[in-house]
Amino acid sequence: MFPLLKYAEDDVNRHLAAVTADRVAESLAKPRKGWFDLLNLISPAAYPFLPEMRRAAQSMRRRYYGKTVSVYAPLYIGNTCVNSCRYCDFRVQHGGTVRRNLTLDEIGVEAEAIRKTGIDSLLVVAGEDPRVNTVAHLAEVGRILKGMFSNLSLEVAPQTEAGYRELFGAGYEGLICFQETYDQMLYREMHPAGPKSDYSFRLETQLRAGRAGFRLLGCAFLLGLGPWRREAASLAAHAFYLMRECYTAKVQFAFPRICRVEGGFVPPCEVDERDLELMMLAFRIVFPQCCMTVSTREAPAFRDRIVLTAADNMSAGSRVTPGGYAVLSQHHAADVAQFTLSDDRSPAEVYAAVRANGQEVVFKNWDNRI
Ligand code: SF4
Repeated sequence: MFPLLKYAEDDVNRHLAAVTADRVAESLAKPRKGWFDLLNLISPAAYPFLPEMRRAAQSMRRRYYGKTVSVYAPLYIGNTCVNSCRYCDFRVQHGGTVRRNLTLDEIGVEAEAIRKTGIDSLLVVAGEDPRVNTVAHLAEVGRILKGMFSNLSLEVAPQTEAGYRELFGAGYEGLICFQETYDQMLYREMHPAGPKSDYSFRLETQLRAGRAGFRLLGCAFLLGLGPWRREAASLAAHAFYLMRECYTAKVQFAFPRICRVEGGFVPPCEVDERDLELMMLAFRIVFPQCCMTVSTREAPAFRDRIVLTAADNMSAGSRVTPGGYAVLSQHHAADVAQFTLSDDRSPAEVYAAVRANGQEVVFKNWDNRI
C-alpha cells in the first residue's frame, strides 16, 4: 500500500467487501468526495451503477475540460536500460531487443515527423540508462525540442530534485512516473536489480519534480501486477498527498494495462475492460480537476468512448520504438517495441474519431512565457 496511508491492506479489503448499493449512491450524491468515496465507487457494489457513473463522470469532465480532448505523442529517444523489470522487453537481460539511442540529429528528424501531424505536446521517453540519459543530455534534448513543441513532458529514470530543476529550466513541464505497484514485496519481486529496485526513491519522484517546479505530475500503477482495487486505493492516496504537497501542480492519472500477448509476460492479476472503465470513471468523479490520459494499449473503440466520460487526454499515432516515426528503415521495422499497441490509427484518424463524437481536438493548451 502507499506507505503514508494509515489503513492496511486488510482494512481496505474489509471496506470494499462491506460496501452496499446505498453507500455507492451516497458517494455519488456527495458534492465533494474523498478517499472512502473512491473505494465505494470501485467496489463490486458499484457495477450496477455504471450507467449513472458514466453520466456523473461526463458531467464532471465537461465542467473542467469542456468538450475537448488534448493530444500528444511519445518520442522514444532510447531503449537501453540497466533495470530488470520482469514484465518489460527492454530489461537488461532481454537479448532479443535491438538497442538504440537516437542521436540529437535523429531526435530532430523524429520530432519533425511528429510535428507535421499537428501534435504540439511531446512526451520524451527513454529506458533507464544513466550512462546515456544523463540530466545534461536530457536537458540538451529538451532545449532542442522546446523550440518545436509548446509542451514537453518526460518519462525517464527518476532524478534528484536538483536534476529536475535543471530539466525544468531546459523546458520540460510535465513528469510521468509509474510506480508499477504500491505493494513493496511485489515491487521487490518485479524489480530484482538495478536502480529501479529502490521503491522509495521512485515513490518520491513526483514530489521532487513538483518541488522543482514541474506543473504536471503523472502517476499510475501497472494494471495486471497486483489486485487492482488495492492498487487503486494506493494511487488515490498518493494523489491526495501530492495535491496537498505540490498544490501548484496538476496530478495526471494514467491506467496502463498489461494486455496478454503470445509469448509475453503473463500478468498475474489481469484487469478486464469493464473494471478498467469502472476505475477510470471513479477517479474522474472523485478527482474532477485532475488530468487523465488513456493509453494506446487500449483498443480504438474503448479509447473513443472513454474520452467522452473520463479521460481528457490521449496519444495519437504513437510509436514505441526509438526511431519509429521516421528514422527506422523498413529493414528495421520488426524491432521490438516496449509494449504492444492496440490503437494503430494515424493521428488524422484519431482526430476524425474525436470530432465525429462531437468533441474538439486540442493541440496546444497554453504558451510558456519564460
Ligand atoms: S519498464 Fe522501464 S525501467 Fe523497466 S526494463 Fe522497461 S524500460 Fe527499463
